Amino acid sequence: MAEIKTDVVVIGAGPAGYVCAIRLAQYGKKVVVVEEAELGGTCLNVGCIPSKALILAGQFMEDARSASEMGITVGEPKLDLAQLVDWKQGIVKRLTGGVEMLFKKRSIEWLKGTARIASPNAVDVKTAEGAVRVTALDVVVASGSEPSTFPGWEFGEHIWSSTEALAPKKLPARLVVVGGGYIGMELGMFYAHAGSKVTIVEATPGILPGTDPELSKVVARKAKKAGIEILTGSFAREWKKKGKGLEITVENGGEMRAMASDQILMTVGRKPRTQDLGLDAVGLTPDKQGFIATDHQRQTRTRHVWAIGDAAGQPMLAHKGSAEGLAAAAAIAGKPGAAFDAKVVPAVIFTDPEIAYVGLTEAEAKEKGHEVRIGKFSFGANGRALSLRRAEGFVKVVADAQDDVILGVQMVGPEVTELIAEAAVAIEAGLTAEDLALTVHAHPTLPEVLMEACEDVHGLAVHSAK
Ligand code: FAD
Repeated sequence: MAEIKTDVVVIGAGPAGYVCAIRLAQYGKKVVVVEEAELGGTCLNVGCIPSKALILAGQFMEDARSASEMGITVGEPKLDLAQLVDWKQGIVKRLTGGVEMLFKKRSIEWLKGTARIASPNAVDVKTAEGAVRVTALDVVVASGSEPSTFPGWEFGEHIWSSTEALAPKKLPARLVVVGGGYIGMELGMFYAHAGSKVTIVEATPGILPGTDPELSKVVARKAKKAGIEILTGSFAREWKKKGKGLEITVENGGEMRAMASDQILMTVGRKPRTQDLGLDAVGLTPDKQGFIATDHQRQTRTRHVWAIGDAAGQPMLAHKGSAEGLAAAAAIAGKPGAAFDAKVVPAVIFTDPEIAYVGLTEAEAKEKGHEVRIGKFSFGANGRALSLRRAEGFVKVVADAQDDVILGVQMVGPEVTELIAEAAVAIEAGLTAEDLALTVHAHPTLPEVLMEACEDVHGLAVHSAK
């Protein structure tokens, strides 16, 4: 077997693995990255980036339809799906090419193949040219996750995972989305905006489980306006081919309903890819959900074996994985104080309107024993939101009643996936609601809504009639 000797071998080139590899190289380490598919992982190829590109296109169509309100008539927009998919793929290529270029500049070797851990210091890789053993002092597992489904609902021609839904050959006239989490809602909204008749089947009592219902309710209302049918407390029980289409049986409170569709999209969650990695060779067993346990530096129980990203636990988000990658790289390079010690990890959902939140909700803060003060401000009273034709939603600030420190911020509305960064900085820095309220925010801009929500914590929001 051919052999490569290196300092660190990283398994997986998603946002956790590639970021970790680059930082290790910046610290002077010799790095080999084993990736069996494309550089960039799920996020760049079949996740965050392509989904946001399609969502923009759908929003564009929706905006064109309603432009007559401004005196602009463009008629029903026509979609060339093949061109849209090509355009989206161009963005993906540019980003994955960027990672490849950075690898070359930093002399990081990409070994294209499937990795299996052989021992704490060796990883065996199956490549197209044959087997290669990579020996290294440190092994970083960044193998990510993959879409889950139910038995009998295997992915194929009729049942898409998010991956197929991001590269459609034909726009389905009717689409049933099983699972109303963030991936199902984001993609469901794209298809609805593009012209499909979309039904969301969600088992829990509301869409976007895990999200504050105060926020998800606003999105549910807008989704219904966009013609999306939302069936909550409902379970997709079986499906079959019927005529030229499909028939899906959905159960709600013991009652069965047969629904006709042309395509099914399963978005019922993702599972970590930790089964076939050879973890037993280094004395590790993933937990029941398949995650690998780590310490504050992202080192596993086995010294010199590290785990980051979706493989290492919730939240399964790209930026959490990248931050863990940086922490693990610093620890491997022996940097003093290296640790993953983020106070908060923001969450962003690219529905219409968008949702973003960071830190504690009002209920969580109270559960933790905080006495809280709440500030709220609506995008409906913000000039920029109105001029963008996106004056829906609000920002809610949860502050500690004793010392005014911001504990959490929840947002639903225009561009809140961008606005949440200010709130995350505020919480990381231990800022108070007054600190943000006293910071001069440019006018007219959307961040003024966060500033006024902070003023409202003290009952002083100038543009509120409360
Ligand atoms: P991955 O990105 O999954 O990368 C792991 C890589 O490891 C893969 O390329 C895989 O091929 C490789 N690999 C696995 N096993 C082996 C092996 N044995 N040998 C060689 N290679 C291997 N997150 C956000 O933060 N924001 C978003 O807006 C967002 N949108 C999303 C939209 C969709 C449709 C989906 C599906 C996901 C989205 N996510 C989003 C989640 C995000 O993509 C993941 O959290 C992120 O990609 C995880 O990064 P990772 O590096 O841990 O793993």
